[in-house]
Amino acid sequence: MKIIDIQICKYDMSLLMSHFSERVDKTMLRNICTAFFFVGCLSCSTALKAQHFFDFNGKSVSPGTKEHFTITIADQDTATFIPVTVFHGKESGPVLGITAGVHGYEYAPILAGQKLIKEIDPEELRGTVILVQVANVGSFLGRSPYTNPLDDRNLNRSFPGDAEGTITERVASFISEKIIPRCTYFVDAHSGDAPEDLMPYSAYYQHDKKEDISSKGREMAKHMGFDHVIVFKTTDKDYMKKGAPSLYCSAQAFKWGIPAVDIECGRLGMVEEKFVEKIVAGLGSLLNYLEMTDGDPVVSQGIAFVEERSYMSSSYTGFFYPLKSGGDYVRKGMKIGYITDFFNKTRDVVYADTSGIILYMLGTPPVNKGETLVAIGIIKE
Ligand SMILES: [Zn+2]
Repeated sequence: MKIIDIQICKYDMSLLMSHFSERVDKTMLRNICTAFFFVGCLSCSTALKAQHFFDFNGKSVSPGTKEHFTITIADQDTATFIPVTVFHGKESGPVLGITAGVHGYEYAPILAGQKLIKEIDPEELRGTVILVQVANVGSFLGRSPYTNPLDDRNLNRSFPGDAEGTITERVASFISEKIIPRCTYFVDAHSGDAPEDLMPYSAYYQHDKKEDISSKGREMAKHMGFDHVIVFKTTDKDYMKKGAPSLYCSAQAFKWGIPAVDIECGRLGMVEEKFVEKIVAGLGSLLNYLEMTDGDPVVSQGIAFVEERSYMSSSYTGFFYPLKSGGDYVRKGMKIGYITDFFNKTRDVVYADTSGIILYMLGTPPVNKGETLVAIGIIKE
């Protein structure tokens, strides 16, 4: 845009020069034209860059700055808060919403969010980034996988939430009402919770009747540097039906017409720098792709798309011994783990029910009958 501005102004100037060159002193004319050129450029680019304040939670964020918010969420008995950073670019552009810590024991995305405070420069940004640093502070401070100990609810099964409900429902409601509708694009960042041995991937929502936002989500998911992209096929899902709760944070965005991506990066509730960095790089790449920052997005060569997943669940309560890890390729019939009772007697041997890649595997010993042991992604050639 900037280059076009200057070309237009140069064109105006040369036109002026040729028009009047026969009649007036050339030096004087050059001076007038140079002044015209700068004023013109300034006003052209100011008009194109014009960026307003971004009003959020009762505060106006100035263009080219960032603001941190600590948003109190409370009911009669208990209180929590949501830490949010708003980066408001100098130039206008889309609004990207990012949530970390919807599961507060998933540290890689939470630590990536902390790094983004320095990584995203609002002076260099086009548009706005709303970054929820830790959506589920109750789960984070309580060191609680899956659920918020304040009300024992899973935030990522609580959307769209309820402003008059339990504390987790109120958190979901704030995100649904005050953040998601402001966004042009949305990313919910997760990693493997305490027992989850996950492989890194991005995932996008797909719906047959929402082709435009589905394909926009697909492009987002492709431009974040992951080798594997999972397709969340939602056409027949109950949570996409009108009036049904959307349950998941990013599904709420998708339901409201916003291209939405999930990422999973990190495992077993651990802090591993390589996964933190991968998330930072992936979100940076997405900002480049969305032209909110200057730079080239990273696209993995030969991305594998996973359109079908197979889930295998436990037939016993006891100890699970995995023989594979997240990211391993398996063939149908391959031995992938076994289950013992509380006296170390083998009760079941688990064989892969399909060929594919292990997206998720239970990575710690406790297992309850009916729980998911493994999710295998089926890759079509
Ligand atoms: Zn999660």
